[in-house]
Amino acid sequence: MTARVHVVGAGVAGLVAALALARGGHAVTLHEAAPVAGGRCRALPDGTDNGTHALMGANHAALRFLDAIGARGGWVEPEPEGLPMLDLADGSARRIAAAPMAWRDPALRPPGMSAGGLFALLGMALPFTDRPVGVALAKHPALLRGFVEPLTVAALNTPVAEASSARLGQVLRRLGSAGAARLLVAREGLGPDLVAPALAALRDAGATIDLGTRLRALTSADQRITALHMAEETITLDPADAVVLALPPWEAAKLIPGLRVPERHAPILNLHFARRGAGPVRFVGIVGGLTQWVLVRPTGVSVTVSAADAESEDSAEALAPRAWAEILRAAAAFALPGDWPEPPPPCRAVKERRATPRHAVGIAPVAPRMVMRNMALAGDWTWPGLPATIEAAARSGEAAAKAIATRLPRPVAGAASLRRVNA
Ligand SMILES: Cc1cc2nc3c(=O)[nH]c(=O)nc-3n(C[C@H](O)[C@H](O)[C@H](O)COP(=O)(O)OP(=O)(O)OC[C@H]3O[C@@H](n4cnc5c(N)ncnc54)[C@H](O)[C@@H]3O)c2cc1C
Repeated sequence: MTARVHVVGAGVAGLVAALALARGGHAVTLHEAAPVAGGRCRALPDGTDNGTHALMGANHAALRFLDAIGARGGWVEPEPEGLPMLDLADGSARRIAAAPMAWRDPALRPPGMSAGGLFALLGMALPFTDRPVGVALAKHPALLRGFVEPLTVAALNTPVAEASSARLGQVLRRLGSAGAARLLVAREGLGPDLVAPALAALRDAGATIDLGTRLRALTSADQRITALHMAEETITLDPADAVVLALPPWEAAKLIPGLRVPERHAPILNLHFARRGAGPVRFVGIVGGLTQWVLVRPTGVSVTVSAADAESEDSAEALAPRAWAEILRAAAAFALPGDWPEPPPPCRAVKERRATPRHAVGIAPVAPRMVMRNMALAGDWTWPGLPATIEAAARSGEAAAKAIATRLPRPVAGAASLRRVNA
């Protein structure tokens, strides 16, 4: 009898875990409540990304996964010369390097960078204290405004008044090595450049993919999961079967009584403008307005507003003209190619109210990797070494697959490749 692993949740964490297990020769079924895979990294029915997602060169597990599914070539570096940043307050437009090594070139240094500012950043990179980022950088307001705040809000999805300097330190420590601060985005979108190749790789490895099936409850006995109660059926597990639960924290908490999970979340708002235009993919930062980041693709222009506590209550009609006016200033400041008409093109607002946990000062609950003898947890919130990001999700998926694989009967040698031949 072949043991089967049921991976529940087809976000990045579940996709990574399922592929590692299926390529390891194990029988895998991936169950997903939504009609599409990808979770918070999904494409909407019209092909638009749920929200703009950026990776950094330091995101080794995420890039490993893109390599594993043959999708690495779809992720491009839009701003290799440094991130273009416009400050709306004084109209200053400059390129900033996120990598400290590149700050040897004064032209690429963040505004307000001084020896004292560098020292303050080093202080955050060393994990001795935890305080709000805004407090840690209070003596360096220009550096905070022009570099640290945009980085904090993007990476931690938490306003600097409450964001944890220790959490930001986890990010800063990773920016030091060569290539670590390269920023990458999907050339076409999350659908073609992440989700579709991941599902194709899973099918190729023999996994079964079950979309539109919600896990409602679990039954356990003797510290083992014995049944999965899906919306439409109950799946009884054989004694050797196993489960990877790759769910957001609030769903995991519903299914596992007593599990401690992050309870406070922060929203991310994306505005997608239907502006078409030839030219390369571009990525521009804006300080001092509504818009934080602008992704320009030939198929559209997307605005990201992280930690959008206030803005997520506003309508697209109210937000679009404000954001578009800011985009026009950025397009002029950085001579973005193509036509930039005065009236805003049609705009769609996508609000993810629980985009990530809030990474505030204080100790976050640490999730156990194994919660039963045959069930592992995965998900961005379960990886303690990073804020909740694609990288954290990918690492958690790898770790869950590894933890489960050691408890499974050894697969028949070559099982995965045999299935591929027979498929
Ligand atoms: C708008 C936005 C922008 C972001 N930008 C970035 C970025 O630029 N860079 C970055 O690194 N990260 C970014 N993130 C964070 C990143 O998307 C997440 O960290 C990552 O996608 C989490 O993956 P996951 O697999 O842990 O969880 P999820 O993606 O939430 O996956 C969980 C899956 O489980 C499914 N599910 C839930 N309940 C059940 C159930 N009962 N039964 C079956 N299935 C269930 C869900 O439908 C979902 O598909 C962003 C997030 C958002 C929302």
